[in-house]
Amino acid sequence: MMTSYLLKPGELTLKGGNRELFEKILKRNLSAMLRLSGARVINAGSGRYYVRCEQDKEDSVEHALKHLFGISGWAKTRICEKQPEAVIEACVKEAGLLFEKGIRSFKIEARRTDKSFPLDSYKIRCQAGAAVLKALPGLKVDVHRPEGCIEVEIREKAYIYGNARRGLRGLPVGSSGRGLLLLSGGIDSPAAGYMMLSRGMKLDAVYFHAYPYTSEEARQKTLSLAKILACYGMGLKFFTVNFTPIQGRIKEKSPEAWRTVLLRMAMMECAERLARRKGAKCLVTGESLSQVASQTVENISCTQSRLSLPVLRPLIGMDKEDIVRLSEKIGAYKISILPYEDCCVLFSPEHPILRGNPAEAGNLYEALDCDSLITEALKTAAAEKCFYSEAGVSEHLIGRPQI
Ligand code: ATP
Ligand code: MG
Repeated sequence: MMTSYLLKPGELTLKGGNRELFEKILKRNLSAMLRLSGARVINAGSGRYYVRCEQDKEDSVEHALKHLFGISGWAKTRICEKQPEAVIEACVKEAGLLFEKGIRSFKIEARRTDKSFPLDSYKIRCQAGAAVLKALPGLKVDVHRPEGCIEVEIREKAYIYGNARRGLRGLPVGSSGRGLLLLSGGIDSPAAGYMMLSRGMKLDAVYFHAYPYTSEEARQKTLSLAKILACYGMGLKFFTVNFTPIQGRIKEKSPEAWRTVLLRMAMMECAERLARRKGAKCLVTGESLSQVASQTVENISCTQSRLSLPVLRPLIGMDKEDIVRLSEKIGAYKISILPYEDCCVLFSPEHPILRGNPAEAGNLYEALDCDSLITEALKTAAAEKCFYSEAGVSEHLIGRPQI
């Protein structure tokens, strides 16, 4: 038995002349995610795609559809011939499934792009609705707030499906250029990465660690977060850069209050150099205005003052509670809150500067003379590839004893 899923396009329907390109990327992404399942992505014309798979591959397909940017919704669909009786019968069967799930009110939605179909969309709704009510007297119609919605689309074939799932929306990854995410083990940066992926940006990630002051476990935790993003982002490369010598230089040569801002400046500079090498056109961070001392608008001016690539901060105006909710939604939260040490916390000043002046920051940064240290750090950077995977993300990390 084969199963079919219908995909509803999202924002890409607005893309005018570029629409074809966006659709091509969407199809390429989904095909890549489904490569191992043997499922096929089929273009049904006029912006509609569907997926066909063996019944035992439904979990694989649904996992992919739950991680795919660029679709507003999806549903397991019946496909039948364009005959009114067949369509109505399919609606009744679909209603039966909803009823089994405990749904007691419904409506029928119908769209007809093939105008040669003998019933117009109003008549489809009326006749299918009446047939459902007759077959399942326990159901009632509610056009305003139905518990279940059965949709009929008459296109090159007839598609009938119940309660379509909401897609992730956004744009297909790979349609909006490439960025480099500064990924820490915290809550914010994975959420920031997710936001940019949702706008179609392809991401790589860089993690700065301070080995041996921060542990390999802390790095593994961040790698797990990268793997979660890889599931939404068509894979990503995870770079690990050792910042111990640079942190040592900052500690030795600069006023304590400035340490965090100077560390951020060094991270940004290093990330920018890496980004240029990898063809990324921007940096992405999880900064949120005034969440911590280094994220006041003055200190943000300091940390970006020496950069020429744009720094995108998708969380800048978001409330922490909303960020946590997003982090939970993408499955990152339970990993982000694991209590491994962070390289910044280890040498954070007790009284950090709150309103740094970019000129002063520039002078202090110059005095560090850390150019060659950054070059060296990049030379020894490690790269790991993370792939889309259905396996779940490093579950072994969760519940590990605290250190
Ligand atoms: P996060 O939860 O993302 O760690 P945060 O609220 O803890 O954010 P900071 O630690 O001040 O804030 O970091 C601000 C941003 O700088 C992070 O969102 C991230 O983009 C970047 N960053 C911080 N530490 C690191 C690190 N060790 N490696 C890579 N990027 C980092
Ligand atoms: Mg942090």
